[in-house]
Amino acid sequence: MLTADCEIMAVIKGNAYGHGAGLIAKELNRLGVFSFAVAALPEALELREHDIQGSILILGYTHPQNAGLLEHFDLTQAVVDYNYARQLSNYGAKIKAQVKIDTGMHRIGEDYHNIDNLKRIFALDNLDIEGTFSHFCVSDILDEESRQFTRQQIDNFDYALDALRKAGFNPGKCHIQASYGLLNYPDLTYDHVRIGTIIFGVPAEDGLVADTELDLKPVLSLRARVTSVRELAIGETVSYGRTFTATRKTTVASVAIGYADGYPRILSGGKGFVLIHGQYAPIAGRVCMDQLIVDVTDITAVKPGDIVTLIGEDGDNRIAAEEVAGGAGFLVPELLSGLGHRLQRYYVD
Ligand SMILES: *Cc1c(COP(=O)(O)O)cnc(C)c1O
Repeated sequence: MLTADCEIMAVIKGNAYGHGAGLIAKELNRLGVFSFAVAALPEALELREHDIQGSILILGYTHPQNAGLLEHFDLTQAVVDYNYARQLSNYGAKIKAQVKIDTGMHRIGEDYHNIDNLKRIFALDNLDIEGTFSHFCVSDILDEESRQFTRQQIDNFDYALDALRKAGFNPGKCHIQASYGLLNYPDLTYDHVRIGTIIFGVPAEDGLVADTELDLKPVLSLRARVTSVRELAIGETVSYGRTFTATRKTTVASVAIGYADGYPRILSGGKGFVLIHGQYAPIAGRVCMDQLIVDVTDITAVKPGDIVTLIGEDGDNRIAAEEVAGGAGFLVPELLSGLGHRLQRYYVD
């Protein structure tokens, strides 16, 4: 539950789900968020380069040879099992850590029922253990079997925490909920919710329903410009593979964005569409690496320099990130985290 006792840990891996990690973290700092999580060491270092304040938990594996960087930049490393914890402790100086417990996802983390190993981790000399956490694998699915599995993961987590406390160890800040863990299990009272997707105002997937309905406001719009406009006679074709053929006198506009920017090539051939002057224009032919072409026959006066909206609002119409992702068979975080680095990120209040 989001109460005064529960602190948000903002998950800003994958370049803050494509939004730009440095500036998103700065804005979160400004809003009073001082607890962050990323997936990997280079992401954590980037945040420190941007002078981000607060704790930064690295959720994934960092090679023990990089322990010096963890120490120097005051980073907190997830401990993925006992063996790894021992290697990290061997560095010598104190390293901040959080202990990951595997309660059923079977990805990383020490086994919840291996209490001996968990106790050994806590007894190591050189780990400054700030917290203990686990991760749900079906908290976004609402059928009874998934709910049962999630409840079992909660029990497994509590069992391990309890055993540690009984052995005299302090597990520190405990957390297990990501976005859908918060939305579907809002009554849990751990110390953090470790959320990514919903802080960007998007659902994880088109049509995904949750027990708690939030009025999500998407943070991101994706825009590009028209570079060139031309008329096609009946029978003329467009783009690689000549998959679009004009069946009427057609006007097409080229747009300066492509799959190298993360726009899915699978949306070629009219599966995807954009907004120009507030009106929908379908993609004509194949999406290229750096450009795509749209059919603007039914939109008047399109000219080079016009703004094209691929995600976001234009006039009375809107293209949601989940529609674009859904059309491509992607999750929303999959689409957004794939947005390329040459896209310029502008922050508008
Ligand atoms: C990505 C991730 C999160 C955040 O997940 P969302 O569903 O985007 O909120 C939380 N915890 C871990 C371990 C993750 O890998």
